[in-house]
Amino acid sequence: MTEAGVEKIIAVIDPSHEELFRGATKALSVKSVAGGATRSQSVRAGLAAVGAADAVLIHDAARPGLTVGVISSLLAALEAGADGAAPALPIADSLRRADVGGDVVAEVERDGLWAVQTPQAFRLDAIGAAYAKAGDATFSDDIAVARAAGIKVRLVPGEARLMKLTYPGDLAILEALMGARTTCVGSGYDAHRFGAGDYVTLCGVRITHEKGLLGHSDADAGWHALVDAILGALGDGDIGAHFPPSDARWKGADSETFLRHAAKLAADAGARIVHVDLTLVCERPKIGPHREQMRARTAEVLGLPLARVSVKATTTERMGFTGREEGLAAMATATLERPC
Ligand code: MG
Repeated sequence: MTEAGVEKIIAVIDPSHEELFRGATKALSVKSVAGGATRSQSVRAGLAAVGAADAVLIHDAARPGLTVGVISSLLAALEAGADGAAPALPIADSLRRADVGGDVVAEVERDGLWAVQTPQAFRLDAIGAAYAKAGDATFSDDIAVARAAGIKVRLVPGEARLMKLTYPGDLAILEALMGARTTCVGSGYDAHRFGAGDYVTLCGVRITHEKGLLGHSDADAGWHALVDAILGALGDGDIGAHFPPSDARWKGADSETFLRHAAKLAADAGARIVHVDLTLVCERPKIGPHREQMRARTAEVLGLPLARVSVKATTTERMGFTGREEGLAAMATATLERPC
C-alpha cells in the first residue's frame, strides 16, 4: 500500500505503447491492461482488472500533478458517506456565452460553477454497476456515468498542479507548478598556445592575427570552454571524453560541431540552456571589435536570444602565459534548467 492508501495501480494503455510503458514504470509496481477505442471502453477495461476493492479512483494520465493530499481528500469523502467524489477548482474568470462568430450573446453566472479534475473516486461496485447500465452511451467523464445511474458525487478541493496537459505550452506551466525543474550551473575552462598562423577562431569568429592557435581542432578556446560548461551543468563528462584528441575525426574540426553536440545532449536530457557567459583572457587580439559578432554566433548555434549570451574579455596585465602572449585562455559558465 502506498503512502496515500492506494493498494493497486492499473494503467490502461494503448497496446502499441507497451514498451514505452515498461521503460517508464521500471521502478514502479504498476500493472497495465489494453485500452479500448473510447474513453468509456478504456475505463471498463481498467475496472475489470481491479479485482476486489472497496473504492476505485479513475484518473487521466494527462494530469500528472496528482498529490497524496488530493487522494486523501477523495477517500475521506467516500468514508464520510459519499458514493462518488472528484477534485474541482472554483472558476476565477468571468464567463460569457458566445455565438459561432465570437459575439457575446449572454452572461453566465459563475457562482456554483466548478472546473472538475481527476481522479474521480467511487465505490467500486457502484461505478461498475453504473458503467454496466450506461451501455454504449457516450459520457464526458466518470461523474457523468455515475450521475446517470443516480450516484451522488461530492466535490473536494482540487489543485492547480492537477491541470490537464492539452497544449504544448502547458508542459512548462505544469513543470513550474510541480517544481519539477532545477537550475544547474556548469563551468568550463580552456587554453590554447599561440603558434604559426595568421588568424585565430574565437566563439566561431575568424579574427586576423599575427599568430594562430595550436590545437587538434580549430583551437576555439571560447567555444571549448563553453562546451565544458554545458557538459558540466549536465554532469556529462568533458569535451575530451566526447571528442577525444586521439580520434582523427576531430582533427581540424570546426568547434561549431562540438557546441551543437553539447546543445543536443542538453536537449536529449530534457534540459534548457537559459544563459551562457564567456570570458576570453588575452592581451591580443583585441576582442572588443568582435564581441558582438561572437555573441551573435554563439546565440545562433545555441538557439538563444542575444540577451542570454554574454561574451567578455580581459587581460592579465601582462602577467602569466596570457600576459606574455604565449597563448590565450577562456572561461565559461552555462546555466541550464533540468528535470529534477
Ligand atoms: Mg581546447
